[in-house]
Amino acid sequence: MTELAPNVAIIGAGPAGLMAAEILSDAGYAVSLYEAMPSPARKFLMAGKSGLNITNRREGENLSSRYPGVAPLLKNALSEFGPASIAEWMQGLGVEATIGPTGRVFPVQMKASPLLRAWLARLQSQGVQLYTRHRWTGWSDNADLIFDTPEGPISVQSDAQIFALGGGSWKRLGSDGNWSSVFAERGVQTEPFRPSNCGFTVDWSDRMKTEFVGTPVKNVAVRFGDHTSREEFVVTDRGVESGAIFTLSLAIRDRLETDGEALLEIDLAPDLAEETLVSRLTQERGKQSLSNHLRKAANLKGVKRALLFEFGGLEVSNDPERLARLIKCLPIPLGKPFPLDEAISTAGGVSFDALDGHFMVKQQPGMFCAGEMLDWDAPTGGYLLTACMATGRAAGLGAVRWLKSQVS
Ligand SMILES: Cc1cc2nc3c(=O)[nH]c(=O)nc-3n(C[C@H](O)[C@H](O)[C@H](O)COP(=O)(O)OP(=O)(O)OC[C@H]3O[C@@H](n4cnc5c(N)ncnc54)[C@H](O)[C@@H]3O)c2cc1C
Repeated sequence: MTELAPNVAIIGAGPAGLMAAEILSDAGYAVSLYEAMPSPARKFLMAGKSGLNITNRREGENLSSRYPGVAPLLKNALSEFGPASIAEWMQGLGVEATIGPTGRVFPVQMKASPLLRAWLARLQSQGVQLYTRHRWTGWSDNADLIFDTPEGPISVQSDAQIFALGGGSWKRLGSDGNWSSVFAERGVQTEPFRPSNCGFTVDWSDRMKTEFVGTPVKNVAVRFGDHTSREEFVVTDRGVESGAIFTLSLAIRDRLETDGEALLEIDLAPDLAEETLVSRLTQERGKQSLSNHLRKAANLKGVKRALLFEFGGLEVSNDPERLARLIKCLPIPLGKPFPLDEAISTAGGVSFDALDGHFMVKQQPGMFCAGEMLDWDAPTGGYLLTACMATGRAAGLGAVRWLKSQVS
């Protein structure tokens, strides 16, 4: 085995690991960044494919309210590096931020690649050494890190280690969650992965499957319990996903876990009052087909009309009051979450109880954790990347503090 001797090893080159690398190299430490994939931050790049929603300014100071059951450690990290700091940090990399109507913040170029390029260049100029195709597999008997590399296994000694290995979804981008069993063997408390920001199965008829797969359902209000979203969503061959479904998915997943069933309610005509609908539907239908009648009375056509027929509209089509009620509150029974690997993010991972107040594993001095591999949860809207970067920064600062304490 070859032996290298960096001071600080950061394992996982996603946004959390890169942020930790920035903090440690800023503080003058020699940083080696190890990444299993042939290139860094593949999930970050994927996140930028349809617009990198990097943070969210809607909540202002109350940002942490978006993280259900937020741990005090995460709350602190978010208060020290929140949306304003992220926008400023981007500006420092020469990337201006733009804010969408719901507070979502994006780089003006929308994509992640210009930001990532600038970030990697700055890290390189600060001396950070990036080792790709280095898959961490565990520890040797004398606590060195072991990596599989194209040249065979190597062991690495380090004065501190920061793990930022990501959650348990989208394995093809690198975050396979395999680290959780190695951590558990080491006695680090972990919680099972759970899908967040995911789709859910619906038992569609053949008609829905053949005619409407991939179709967005627009201009609706989607309700689940106390939550409502005006975003669109998409019909897939197995169920529903995207937009409103992701936004409501944490509550839906929790309900499915406790009750085994969950009912989504769709308002197919959110801009029409129920009474207006009733009066329009009561007007003479004459020889018009039901489809025409619905189009004229409620602008229902295509996938929205198909959804209405799918869940009982045909049976009540001669009763304007019941039909209007159904249009305003169409129940869609959901089955189960789509497979874990397809979720935008995962809850579960390293428990906050395993960490001290500086993101260091209590039982393993010098070992820190950050990013999605920690057990927190949040909806889409920029909250995921915000927490990854905030915890990456906090773990980096924790490591600086700990390393200083070792020499004094
Ligand atoms: C399609 C999609 C769109 C998204 N859009 C958004 C968005 O717009 N806004 C938002 O806030 N969030 C978004 N997210 C979520 C966001 O990208 C993640 O939460 C974030 O990337 C997690 O950062 P991380 O650094 O903790 O982990 P990751 O980005 O997953 O990085 C972990 C790194 O560790 C490496 N690794 C894993 N195991 C090993 C090992 N054994 N040895 C060495 N390296 C290893 C991985 O290869 C990976 O590079 C999106 C996610 C997806 C999938």
